Amino acid sequence: CGIVGYLGKADAASVLINGLRRLEYRGYDSAGVALLDDGKIVVTKAPGKVSALSEKARAEWPAERFSRSGTGIAHTRWATHGPPTEANAHPHLDQSGDIALVHNGIIENYRALRARLEAKGHLFLSDTDTEVLSHLIGDSYKSNLFQAVCDALHQVEGTFGIAVLSAREPGKIVTARRGSPIVIGVGEGETIIASDASAILSHTQRVIYLNDNDIATVTADSIDIRDLNNVPVTREIAELGFDA
Ligand code: GLU
Repeated sequence: CGIVGYLGKADAASVLINGLRRLEYRGYDSAGVALLDDGKIVVTKAPGKVSALSEKARAEWPAERFSRSGTGIAHTRWATHGPPTEANAHPHLDQSGDIALVHNGIIENYRALRARLEAKGHLFLSDTDTEVLSHLIGDSYKSNLFQAVCDALHQVEGTFGIAVLSAREPGKIVTARRGSPIVIGVGEGETIIASDASAILSHTQRVIYLNDNDIATVTADSIDIRDLNNVPVTREIAELGFDA
């Protein structure tokens, strides 16, 4: 339903949770956030409102985590596969726990992909179609997150807007779309990804809209967009031109 990603110097957890609040009007049933903190992916999720997620994060996480982590992804879920429980909320991890992913849309061939991964020993923790994507990316991962996401997306049928984080490649988010919007906010020393520009407005008015089958590797100060065959593509920066 709603995606936010952040790379920069600000307190990522607070930026992400505020971003989710801006997407609340679209409706959702649960929410979650993953940060890269001290070299590890940490996740917290909650059924219900973004305020429940916010309270849980503040209760469970040490204060330093808010001040020192400038990298993360977050999601508000509108369940299509599996009830709105904590386990089914995004982000979802891969088998190693080093890759976290949020997803909007539906992976149509998730059953076949899941069966194949389970036969290889992958253990699934949710009922969602989404979790197959994080496992597939982990399964394809060698040393390059962009390449692993590319390989995984070649195998899926359906619709997606995704944002993906790897503990092995800190300071980077890979984001892609097919049939579900992704907007990248180009800030000063910070980059904000979202499924809807309303989560970006308070940071910057300069945005790039991904096209279907675009896959972007973003850092706090760079954006590299390619197609699924690894060929670079150029996308214009648009000015939102209205107030936050
Ligand atoms: N199909 C996914 C799920 O049910 C994503 C739903 C969404 O777009 O929020 O978890």
